[in-house]
Amino acid sequence: MEKQCNRCGHVMHLYLRKLVYMNHTQIEHVPMYWCCYCGHHELVEQIKEELKQCLQRLHTEKGTKAISFAEHSIFTRMMLKTCAQKPCFTVDEWLDLYLLAKSLGDKQWLRQVLVSLREVARSKCE
Ligand SMILES: [Zn+2]
Repeated sequence: MEKQCNRCGHVMHLYLRKLVYMNHTQIEHVPMYWCCYCGHHELVEQIKEELKQCLQRLHTEKGTKAISFAEHSIFTRMMLKTCAQKPCFTVDEWLDLYLLAKSLGDKQWLRQVLVSLREVARSKCE
């Protein structure tokens, strides 16, 4: 699951990100493309409509704190199955992502990257 970055032409990787909607609702497992060369992010085309519907529902269901986007998206469920919740990144790619999260000052994302990085590193040693 890769595509070409429309900014710099390098390969973009698919990963699952947590989004925060209206500062109160966390949406986990939102598939996005990320370019590790220029840092360009892009929502996956296949999920745009599902995400829109999901956000509309969240808007009416006030008080919802956290959801998994996989409950609303077949594409995401498929992706979770194939990637077992983790983007298929190598340690180097995770390190790039770590630097990006750090430069953006996104602490929550940084923590997420660190946890995944540790898991990838551990699975390499076993
Ligand atoms: Zn790029």
